[in-house]
Amino acid sequence: MDLYEYQAKDLFAEHGVPVLAGEVADSAEAAAAVARRLGGPVVVKAQVKTGGRGKAGGVKLAESPEEAAAAAEAILGLDIKGHVARRVLVTEASQIAAEYYVSFLVDRANRTFLAMASAEGGVEIEQLAVERPEALAKVAVDPLVGVDRAQAVEILRRGGFPAEVIEQAADVVVRLWEAFVAEDATLVEVNPLVSDPEGRVLALDGKVAVDASAAFRQPGHAAFADVEATDPLEAMAAERDLNYVKLDGQVGIIGNGAGLVMSTLDVVAYAGARYGGVQPANFLDIGGGASADVMAAGLEVILADADVASVFVNVFGGITACDAVANGIVQAFELLSQRGEAVDKPLVVRLDGNNAAEGRRILEQAGLPRLVQVDTMDGAADRVAELAKAGV
Ligand code: GDP
Ligand code: MN
Repeated sequence: MDLYEYQAKDLFAEHGVPVLAGEVADSAEAAAAVARRLGGPVVVKAQVKTGGRGKAGGVKLAESPEEAAAAAEAILGLDIKGHVARRVLVTEASQIAAEYYVSFLVDRANRTFLAMASAEGGVEIEQLAVERPEALAKVAVDPLVGVDRAQAVEILRRGGFPAEVIEQAADVVVRLWEAFVAEDATLVEVNPLVSDPEGRVLALDGKVAVDASAAFRQPGHAAFADVEATDPLEAMAAERDLNYVKLDGQVGIIGNGAGLVMSTLDVVAYAGARYGGVQPANFLDIGGGASADVMAAGLEVILADADVASVFVNVFGGITACDAVANGIVQAFELLSQRGEAVDKPLVVRLDGNNAAEGRRILEQAGLPRLVQVDTMDGAADRVAELAKAGV
C-alpha cells in the first residue's frame, strides 16, 4: 500500500526524521487558513500517489495566505499522470542549499534490502539511474545487522555526499532505516533530502509503501486505507473477502483459480472482438473450495455492477468437484432471490473437470432462469460475449 506524502511525513516525524510542519487542506480557504497558522512562506503540494508533481505544476511556493489560496485553487482538481489532486499539503517552506536523495527498499531480485543514495537529488531518480548510474550508490543492507551510524556514513559517502553534510544526514538515514523496519515498509524514499543554509538536514518530500501482508501487526496502518480512491465495487468485494478487481468491460467473470480466471479474461476479450469489442467487466477468483455462500457473494458483487450485461461462470472442478459447484450456484440463486436480488442478467456456465457430467445435470434439472450451459471454454466465451452485446 502506497501512502500519500503527508502520511509518509507523519510516519517520518514519529520516527524522528526531520520534516517541516504542515497540514492537509481540501479547499483554497482551508489552505489559506493553514498558511496563516504556520506563518511565513509555505509550499502548497498536490497529494497524489505519483511522483513528478513539481514538473506537473503540483508544487507551488506561496509567500502569503492569499497566495496559498491561489496555489491551492490551481492545484486542486489538477490531473497528474491520471491522479487527480483532491487535497493539498500546506507546509512551511524551506531554503534549499542542496538537494540529495536517499531510500531503502526491498531488492527482490537480490533477495535483500537495498539502500540507495545520491548527492544529486531533486531530479527523477529513474532518470538519474539511467543517465548517470555512477552517481547513484546502491548498498545492500544485511537485515540481521541493519543500519547503524557507521553503515549510514558509508552509504552517504558512496552516494557522494559532501563531508560537512554526512554528519547530520547519517542521523537521518539511521532513523529512516528504523522507520523502514518498524513500519514493515517495502519502500521509504526521500527526494529531495535537503540541507538548508543553516546546515540543517530535512526530508522535504516522502514516499513510503507499507507491506499489506503485515497489516495484522500494524493496526495503525488501517488509517492509511484510501477510502475515497477505492472503487465502490472493489470495496464491496473486499468486505466479502473476495479476490475481485473491477475492469472496464461488460462481461462479469467468476472462476475458480487465478490462472483460470486470467485465461478467461483473455478468451472473453478475444470472443468479444467479434461482438463489437465486448470486454471483461472484472476479475473474480472464488478459489478452490467455493461454497454456495462464496458463489452468492461473488454473483452479488458482479450483478451490482451496472456495466455488466452478462455473466460467465467458468469452473474447472478439482478438489471441489463440479457437482458441489453446481449445487453452490443453485443455492446462490435461492439466496439472492430471498434477498430480493434475483439474478436478472444472462448467465453462461461452463463446468469441466471432476464430476462435470453430474454438475451439468444438477444445473439442468434446477431449470434456473436465464442460465445457459456451454461445455467448452471458447464456446461459452462466444455465447457470453454475444449475450453481452445483445444486452448492452
Ligand atoms: P515531486 O516533484 O513530486 O517529487 O515533489 P517534491 O516534493 O520533491 O517537490 C519538487 C521540488 O519542489 C523539489 O525538488 C524542490 O526543488 C521544490 N520544493 C519543494 N519544497 C520546497 C521548499 O520548501 N522550498 C523550496 N525552495 N523548494 C521546494
Ligand atoms: Mn520528490
